[in-house]
Amino acid sequence: MNNRHTAHPAPPLALVIDEDLTMRLLLRQSLEQHGFRVEEASGGKQALEILSGLQPDIILLDVVISDMDGYAVCRQLRQLAGFEDTPVVIVTGFEDVDSVNHAYKVGATDFVGKPINWTIFGHRMRYILRSSQAFAALKTSEARSSALLRAIPDMIFRQDGRGRYLDFQGGRENLVVVPPEEFIGKTMEEVLPSQIAEPALQHLRRVLSSGSGQRFEYQLEIEGTLRYFEARMVASGVDEVTSLVRDITDQKLYEDQIQQLAFYDNLTDLPNRRLFFEHLEHEIRQCDRSDGVLAILFLDLDRFKVINDTLGHGTGDAVLVEVGRRLTDCVRSVDAVARPGHEDGMTSVARLGGDEFTMLIGGIQDARDSEPVARRILETLSAPITIEGRDLFVTPSIGIATYPADGKDAGTLLKNADAAMYKAKEEGRNCIRFYSNSINDRALARFTLEADLRAALEGEALEVYYQPQVDLLSGKAIGMEALARWNHPQRGFIPPSDFIPVAEEAGLIDKLSQWVMQTACAQARAWRQQGAGEVRMAVNLSARQFYAGDLARVVADVLASTGLPSRLLEVELTEGMVMKDPKVTLTALEALKEMGVSIAVDDFGTGYSSLAYLKKYPLDVLKIDRSFVHDIATDPDDAAIARAIIVMAKSLGMVVIGEGVETEQQLAFLQKNGCDQVQGYLLARPACASEAEKYLHGQQLITGAFRKQAAD
Ligand code: C2E
Ligand code: MG
Ligand code: MG
Repeated sequence: MNNRHTAHPAPPLALVIDEDLTMRLLLRQSLEQHGFRVEEASGGKQALEILSGLQPDIILLDVVISDMDGYAVCRQLRQLAGFEDTPVVIVTGFEDVDSVNHAYKVGATDFVGKPINWTIFGHRMRYILRSSQAFAALKTSEARSSALLRAIPDMIFRQDGRGRYLDFQGGRENLVVVPPEEFIGKTMEEVLPSQIAEPALQHLRRVLSSGSGQRFEYQLEIEGTLRYFEARMVASGVDEVTSLVRDITDQKLYEDQIQQLAFYDNLTDLPNRRLFFEHLEHEIRQCDRSDGVLAILFLDLDRFKVINDTLGHGTGDAVLVEVGRRLTDCVRSVDAVARPGHEDGMTSVARLGGDEFTMLIGGIQDARDSEPVARRILETLSAPITIEGRDLFVTPSIGIATYPADGKDAGTLLKNADAAMYKAKEEGRNCIRFYSNSINDRALARFTLEADLRAALEGEALEVYYQPQVDLLSGKAIGMEALARWNHPQRGFIPPSDFIPVAEEAGLIDKLSQWVMQTACAQARAWRQQGAGEVRMAVNLSARQFYAGDLARVVADVLASTGLPSRLLEVELTEGMVMKDPKVTLTALEALKEMGVSIAVDDFGTGYSSLAYLKKYPLDVLKIDRSFVHDIATDPDDAAIARAIIVMAKSLGMVVIGEGVETEQQLAFLQKNGCDQVQGYLLARPACASEAEKYLHGQQLITGAFRKQAAD
């Protein structure tokens, strides 16, 4: 029995093949002394017979045997199964080189020359046996490792310190697209896309410098599909790294699936309650760091049960999916519009279950900033949802809680937003309620104002007033500024500074501005026909209108429908509007310019723009803000700045108008310093069309006497 690989080996077995009985006895004695068991054969044939049933650990063969050629015996026994590696020691008297060579050729392991040196013979046999056992063990281990390497899925790359491929072994899932002979000898940079090669090389260098293993993941497109890989790198020599690369695409897909199941609602694909909480908690921490505010909107569909009960759950599900989709659209527009400059905050929509949805609005400065978003949701959901040809109407009730005012943790905030939502239900549904009463009252007031403004736009409560712009040389009105007025049935006169922002948030500004522009242009045209001459009409634009993208078309429509020549229309923009997005500004201004409309910068001096900056745009008129004009005659600093503005604006070819002129000193100052036109209570207050008309008929608003005085 072959005991070479057992833990406690039995004494090794030696087969001695020799014709000479004495020699056999001597060999046996020496071998037994060294711990061998011994079997004997007196000739070649007998030896081969014995070997068919016995597995000796070492064979001693005298080549001089009479029944067969000793070398032939050696050759034959090597061919027997199981004897490929058994050490065969030739015992020979011929020590000439030829017979030694011959012995090796037929498979001998070693040889012992006669006469035998008995002192070392036994040791030598043990040594031969040991090295042959070591060799066998190595072979087994190598066979095992190569089986192992074939069995594991990883591909194994060996590289030098510069990332050059030294060799490669494909694993079970060999996914190498390029055959090894095409990349062996090349560096990673030559073989892989740079976005993989670069980090891979960094990891490789780190392995060599730190001695610790590195792991990294990358993606690679193979035959049109994106696959994910994980590479583990270890140092395998002084300047050598071995990388085990595994395809982890399936694992990634499972992870994604698990993620999807655990954190997303499977009907709407929106984040579920758990993920919403995670987002909320993250955003609360963010708020703490930035001293910001966040709002959560709790939304519940009104009478959703009726849809489910009467039209079935399939329809109910379809409604929920559509609501989720519209809310997601709202989020996108929130990110784009409602929070300019607050890109850091997160907005997300989630479905908590049933017909309950939540929206998180982070990165806002004021809790009330969430209200326009909620209004947008009401508006978005008011459009019918068409399912299988049937129009369905759903409305939500929305509760809003804000951090940090309405709760210090996610749970409390959600609970309070829920309570606010109930308040909304109690108070008539399809509405918004804040958890905090103070915000509620303000929101309610705002909401009422909005509803009234809507009504005013339909009815007759809005009016356009006109304020003359007076030429300082002639003293006559050469232009008019159109200013919106709202006479509220209960609250009386509401200034534009109060209702213009409401109109912007309620999405009414376009309609309002267009109405003002239309009315003012029609009026200018009428005055012209009555013989008032070339009176320019200045109309204020809102930021929203300016950035809506269709300004040129709106202006063209108004001009076409009123018949006012374009050179008689002037649009007023504020500095802030011009500064916000230079590219959009330039396009919009050029379009207006092309039409022949003149462009004025309103309230100049209150913003941050420099004249040098404004030079980039095709501007015609600069209006010095009235807060500036106010101290012009008393504050030397303001006076100096105003003077400089006038000089520079004129050097840019712009007409300068001083706004809000209330005193004769202010007027005198502007006149003296080269200002072209003025506007203000001193000359004329804004007035209704029939009042303003009086200024147009040759009346000198700046009298000759005063003009003379100012000139002195
Ligand atoms: P603005 O364009 O700078 O208009 C000038 C404002 O100064 C007007 O206020 C006018 O009544 C007031 N004003 C004129 N002369 C004097 C004066 O001597 N002293 C004082 N203290 N004030 C004077 P108003 O009509 O209240 O308008 C305020 C702002 O509302 C306007 O400022 C303009 O930015 C905006 N606005 C008014 N109408 C419209 C409109 O139709 N569309 C848009 N987008 N904005 C408008
Ligand atoms: Mg203005
Ligand atoms: Mg102004």
